[in-house]
This record gives sequence, C-alpha cells and structure tokens, in this order.
Amino acid sequence: MSTFQAPKGTYDLIPPDSARFLAVREAIAAPLRTSGYGYIETPGFENVELFARGVGESTDIVTKEMFTLTTKGGSELALRPEGTASVLRSALEHNLHKQGNLPVKLWYSGSYYRYERPQKGRYRHFSQVGAEAIGAQDPALDAELVILADQAYRSLGLRRFRILLNSLGDKECRPVYRAALQDFLRGLDLDEETLRRAEINPLRVLDDKRQDVQKQLTGAPLLRDYLCDGCKAYHEEVRELLTAAGVAFEDDPRLVRGLDYYTRTTFEFVHDGLGSQSAVGGGGRYDGLSEMIGGPALPSVGWALGVDRTVLALEAEGVELELPAATSVFAVPLGEEARRVLFATVSELRRGGVAADFAYGGKGLKAAMKAANRSGARYTLVAGERDLAEGVVQLKDMESGEQSPIALDAVVAELRGRLG
Ligand code: AMP
Repeated sequence: MSTFQAPKGTYDLIPPDSARFLAVREAIAAPLRTSGYGYIETPGFENVELFARGVGESTDIVTKEMFTLTTKGGSELALRPEGTASVLRSALEHNLHKQGNLPVKLWYSGSYYRYERPQKGRYRHFSQVGAEAIGAQDPALDAELVILADQAYRSLGLRRFRILLNSLGDKECRPVYRAALQDFLRGLDLDEETLRRAEINPLRVLDDKRQDVQKQLTGAPLLRDYLCDGCKAYHEEVRELLTAAGVAFEDDPRLVRGLDYYTRTTFEFVHDGLGSQSAVGGGGRYDGLSEMIGGPALPSVGWALGVDRTVLALEAEGVELELPAATSVFAVPLGEEARRVLFATVSELRRGGVAADFAYGGKGLKAAMKAANRSGARYTLVAGERDLAEGVVQLKDMESGEQSPIALDAVVAELRGRLG
C-alpha cells in the first residue's frame, strides 16, 4: 500500500469490476445513439454562477454540496455537480439551437462531484450518463426519454425498478400551488431551517425524508389539484404515450426533485434493492432553465442515470452481465526463438480482431500456464524449439483440455475460425 488512499467518498474502479461499469455505461448510451442523440462532452468544471443560477441558489446541491475553487486568476469555479446546466450552456454558446432542427438532442457521460455525506450508493465522485432534448415542448419527447431509460435498464436485465411520474406545473399554475403549500407549511411545527426552506422553496419540503416531517405533510395540498388545463392535458398525453409503449409507471403526486429548474413532467427511476439511496436515475422537463442562464426560451427535457447505482442495482438483483472476453488467446513461448515467433502471432491475431495476450517476463512453463488460466483465455498457444523446428505450435483448448499441433502459418485462420 502507498501512503495515499482515494479521498473520502470516492472509490477506484479496477478490473475485473470496472468491465461491468463500462458495460453499464455502454448499455445506457446504446438506445440514445440509435434515437438521434449526438454525443457532447463539456468540461469537468464550470463558472460557479452557472450552477447557482441553473440548479438553484436554495438547493442542497448549490448551498452545501458543491466543490468550489478559486483560480490563481480569481475565477470562481465549481466541479460540476450535475450535467444539464453545462450541456445547455454549451448548446447556447455554440448556437446549436439555431442550426436547424429542434429539438437538439444530446447525450453525455462522465464524472460528477458533490460534497455529500458518503454512504453506500452515495459518493462524492460518481458517474452519470445523461440525455437532453433541447428546444421543443412535445409530450412525445418526454415520453421518448422515459422509454429510452426503461429500455436501457431492461437491456441490462434489471427488473425490480419502478418509474415514478409527476407533473410540477408551469409558471402559470405552480405559483398558485406554491402559495397554497406555503400557507399550509406555515401552520406546521417545523424547525427553523425547514421553515426557512418553506419560504424559499416550499416544494422541497415535500421531499424531506424525516419521518416527523412526513407525518405532518399528510394533508398537504397536492400540485395535481392545481395544474392548469395546459399542464393537465400535457401530462395526460405523456401518460398515454407511456402506456401505449407498454412502459409501466406509478403516479407519484409528491415527487419533486432536488433541482429548481424542473417544470411539468418529472420522473424518477427507483430500484427496490438499494435501501435508502434508491434513485438510480431521474429527470424531467425544464422549460425555464435556458432563460435563467441568459438564453432564449428553449423548453427542454432530459434525464441523468447514475452508473454507480445501476451497478449496485445489478448486484442487488444478482444479474451477471455477459461481458466480452478480455483475452481469448494466450501465448506461451518457451525459449528465445518462440518468443519472437509467438509475439508476431499475437500481434497478427490482434490485428485480426482476436483478443490475445502473451506471457511476458520470460516465465517458465508452469508460471506461464498459470497466467494463461488467470487471463480467462479460451485457447493457449504453446511453442518450444522442437515445435518450431517442425513448423507447428501447440493449440490447447482450455475448456476441454485437448491439445493439438497446428501449422504455424495456419494458426491465425484456425483461431479466428474457432472463435467465430
Ligand atoms: P440527480 O441529478 O440528483 O437527480 O441524480 C441523478 C442520478 O445520479 C441519481 O438518480 C443517482 O443515480 C445518481 N447520483 C446522484 N448523486 C449521487 C451520488 N452522490 N452518488 C452516487 N450517485 C449519485
């Protein structure tokens, strides 16, 4: 061990588990790639104001959880706590919304940082794959995103997840509801901080996880009963499209999310095997965000799915992913000449698309065969001086244990054939 360890709330992804992590990322991205979403990558840090304005000054993410830093030049930056604000900032900066068709559909994948109290499933560095559809207000777009996330989870073999759905209203009906909720909250027995929150962002109080708070919220007014006709019709259509697509969801009239920018459609994906950190992903519509960060009106919708928690959900369900073999063929040279010959063979196999590895470090037969076993290779190639003199190598099938000589110049074709 070195003197140093990974910082609190972080962990290293190392083989073989890291392969599962990559596969999850790829599985989430796959449906997006075939649904018109283009890949976008933005910096790991941004001007802190972008998040303050975009995510919301009164949210936990902004008030408590941002990793901020001041550069030598005096700029105030923050490691990104989420993806949407950055992606929208970038789309606006590059005028993507002016270059033809709306919506602009983008997907991304990367590291995010929140100064949270670490526990299982909650880290200070975590990984998300996200999707944003910018510049269109169409219930089919909201439905598309929920369907694609459902498809991604299902393609991984996950079954014990649920989709929670709600509408948060818009700038017409939400203020009326907000005022009604505030009236209700002022009458409760709440601590000072919660009362303060009720004044700044009363919807967030609904999200309070404490039991004594939740008990008092039993009779709280529900946004559902305050939705304007436009929001009601919009939400109904999203629900119908999901139902028609065969995607099951639960109406959750209390679902609010920790970010200020959401309007209308809001959803969360929860997994029942994860304990308290049960949200594996979430998202919704954010029609006002563009204007909040200085852009034109660009109604948009998106989601972010947590890769770390999706991996935990797979573990909870006992799902084993079928991962491509890291090594299909392992070459074991016995002697100098064999080393040169087999090294060339390995390079040729790799060029031909066969995953191959080599016993490096001048190992003896026993140690080299151990390495071959550990590599998980299906076939081992062994060659010594006598084999080379006869123009062959020994091909061993590691499953059956059978071994046979193959002509050196036929070995690549033979292996490619056998491995399909
Ligand atoms: P949010 O932006 O908070 O809705 O997060 C979207 C998803 O990212 C969540 O559903 C989680 O799967 C994941 N996520 C958020 N925060 C963390 C964290 N601190 N550690 C691990 N995963 C997280």
